[in-house]
Amino acid sequence: MSAKIIDGRAIAADLRHRVAGEVARLRQDHQLTPGLAVVLVGNDPASEVYVRSKAKQLVAAGMHSTEHKRPAAISEADLLRLVESLNGDAAVHGILVQLPLPKHIDPRKVFDTLDPAKDVDGFTPLNAGRLATGLPGLVPCTPLGCAILAKTIHPSLEGLEAVVVGRSNIVGRPLAQVLVNDNATVTIAHSRTRDLAGVCRRADLLVAAVGQAELIRGDWIKPGATVIDVGINRVMHDGKSRLVGDVAFDAAKEVAGAITPVPGGVGPMTIACLLVNTLRAACAIHGLPPPSV
Ligand code: NDP
Repeated sequence: MSAKIIDGRAIAADLRHRVAGEVARLRQDHQLTPGLAVVLVGNDPASEVYVRSKAKQLVAAGMHSTEHKRPAAISEADLLRLVESLNGDAAVHGILVQLPLPKHIDPRKVFDTLDPAKDVDGFTPLNAGRLATGLPGLVPCTPLGCAILAKTIHPSLEGLEAVVVGRSNIVGRPLAQVLVNDNATVTIAHSRTRDLAGVCRRADLLVAAVGQAELIRGDWIKPGATVIDVGINRVMHDGKSRLVGDVAFDAAKEVAGAITPVPGGVGPMTIACLLVNTLRAACAIHGLPPPSV
């Protein structure tokens, strides 16, 4: 039997709709409009596309979005000053510094400077520490989106055997913490894992966040498992360029119980969760209860 395809586009659209409802309520009851400041350094075309798409969706949900574009040659000191000025700007509730940054800028210094209350990417040491110790805080958008997708299949993750392949600070590591905080039993696999196929076969919930096209084969998947594919890899096929995930989708969907496609799975959820985090940050900064999204 073929797996259920988890429709990330539809789930993200529903989430954005619920965020828009909460934003309208905030404006009506508290005259508050959540605002995001996006900092873009340099001219990376992929980053420009992401930033435009994020801004469009924020505005469609009724929030403010401002872009702070700086040349690739900006000094680290000047970038830190920009972040400090946004920290102090009362109309800004979320600050997103688009990665990657040019090599002469240390991203750790940027995230050490960013106000954790406005850290809608969840990358500051304080928010990373809060997640790691099971305290509430702003959670990175992609892991948050993965957990929401997983819960459309397993409303409770309690006791599930989860395997996360990848241990980056932006996806794998925080995702493992999100899942363990939700009482899953979590294994983190990475490039030094022995018998990766055997580890993957244990998973009731398998998440691939590697960045290697179709690394995870169909016969690495436990029959009936839920598979969340974070990977975005551009490959050439029959002379045409196309996007594929870290999972060999066609084979995997014949074994899995449910699976996310690439594109149309995790990607749309990442941006929808940025909207959620901007809304959450605005409520927390104004001492309001967390929104019900
Ligand atoms: P990183 O390159 O930072 O991390 C990749 C991880 O995969 C590392 O932990 C690495 O292990 C591990 N890895 C690499 N090769 C293997 C292998 N052969 N076997 C097992 N593990 C391996 O990538 P990111 O976490 O930033 O991104 C991962 C993927 O997700 C990319 O395709 C990226 O484009 C995509 N992505 C998608 C998003 C979305 O919104 N859909 C958002 C963010 C990322 P080690 O630590 O040992 O080196």
